[in-house]
Amino acid sequence: MQITLFDHIAGAYYGDLRMDDSIVEQIVDHTEETWQPDRRDEERGSNTRQGKVAEEIVEQFFLQFLEDKIAMKSYDDIRNDDFEKHAPFDFLIWKKGTVDIKPIVASIQRDIDNTPNNFVHLSEYTRRLCKDANVKIAEVKSTQIREDLKRNSGFSGNYEDGNEVRKLINEIKSKDDIFCYPYFTRSVSSRDYSMEDYCQLAKQQENSLNPFTGEKLRKMVLELEVIHQCCDVFIRVYLDLTAKRGFIIGWLGKEHLLDYEVRLKRMPKRGKSENALYFTKKLSEVEGIDTLPELFEEGLAVYASPYTTNFYHCKTDCKYIRNVKWEELKVFTSEEQARQDGRYTKRCLNCFDNRGDYDGES
Ligand SMILES: [Zn+2]
Repeated sequence: MQITLFDHIAGAYYGDLRMDDSIVEQIVDHTEETWQPDRRDEERGSNTRQGKVAEEIVEQFFLQFLEDKIAMKSYDDIRNDDFEKHAPFDFLIWKKGTVDIKPIVASIQRDIDNTPNNFVHLSEYTRRLCKDANVKIAEVKSTQIREDLKRNSGFSGNYEDGNEVRKLINEIKSKDDIFCYPYFTRSVSSRDYSMEDYCQLAKQQENSLNPFTGEKLRKMVLELEVIHQCCDVFIRVYLDLTAKRGFIIGWLGKEHLLDYEVRLKRMPKRGKSENALYFTKKLSEVEGIDTLPELFEEGLAVYASPYTTNFYHCKTDCKYIRNVKWEELKVFTSEEQARQDGRYTKRCLNCFDNRGDYDGES
């Protein structure tokens, strides 16, 4: 596969991919279509194949451009279910040389075994392991490059022409979205469902939201979305399957995607009165894929309990916070961020000491 990097976009010409059609068929056989149960088998097959092509491009990009910085493992390499169950993510990624991935893989396989239905749900234990080791859970979202995008950017179909391709990419970035699914509901029948409606629904389901209204409620709901969202990183890929071309448009971390500026979007489902709900941001806001290693340059995440003192912790299994429910645990992306909160000003002696780099502070 030939991949070039231009303007922080990865462009791939993938020629004839060695794709295992039997795997695609297996997935199609087992896929429960939550979104469009009316879709025919062929259509599901081309969607699954499209997803696999996109994953392959991302994997090849990591190997060719970021091999010395990022290590990765695909969900397909981890899964032990004969492709029977719905995948909760596509890749694990981490800073090369920093993580023993085996316990995390084993934990995910246990989660798959323990899933009673077809929708694998990562356990709190697995998510804590990933968080503590700074392993990011990534999802690749792929879309076919539509004719209107080609037409509006004046694209003639020549992917060798750098200027034409740039215009096409700009058109995609200005028109399309990056998105994820909401936690509290994924579809509504109302035509004018708003973020306020969604916040009220969240309030009905989550007692801890009771005291809040208005802006504060919206903020708290979005915090819960970040906590419940299992994927840390979303990677966006656009494909032209006929021309065998693919473009990695960029990535966004979940905290950025689900920040205060996020929009709730309704999409009519074909042939139904229901609307699918998404949280979206414009693709123009994504980060270039070559900047992905920056994810691992920040300080390690730290944690704090909402019930106790002003200490923050670097391990979620520290004896002082391990009984705090995952949803209630405060998570900061760095020590600096915890201190900026104003309340959590001190390192926990217990877990920072055990980490071996305690610098005597606090
Ligand atoms: Zn601690």
